[in-house]
Amino acid sequence: MPDCIFCKMAAGDIKPDIVYEDEKVLAFHDIEPQAPVHVLLIPKRHIVNLNDLDDAELAGHLLQTAARVAAQLGVAESGYRTLMNSNRDGGQSVYHLHVHLLAGRRLAWPPG
Ligand code: AMP
Ligand code: ZN
Repeated sequence: MPDCIFCKMAAGDIKPDIVYEDEKVLAFHDIEPQAPVHVLLIPKRHIVNLNDLDDAELAGHLLQTAARVAAQLGVAESGYRTLMNSNRDGGQSVYHLHVHLLAGRRLAWPPG
């Protein structure tokens, strides 16, 4: 998708602060962190959001990668939150699927 910022990152045209990369997924630090650790994990292929996620293997790989990154960043034991915002009421602002990985402070529940 030519105007999609996360596709540009996946293609290497924009360089985020990468924490993990393989042929299918990319993980990088959020530019506006909401916690001491705030990483986004994206599929390299353009998928709008969870409504369009048609690849169970990729879905599993994204979640397993989130756990791996949590361990890599030293928050697996202290704890973390993984979430996906979908469409307007979910609070999605970038329309390329991404998993948020938040950690490093006690996170409130329920979310606002
Ligand atoms: P959401 O609101 O769930 O769609 O999340 C989009 C996230 O992308 C927000 O947390 C933004 O801070 C983050 N974001 C937007 N642009 C960039 C960028 N250039 N680099 C890193 N993170 C970004
Ligand atoms: Zn995209």
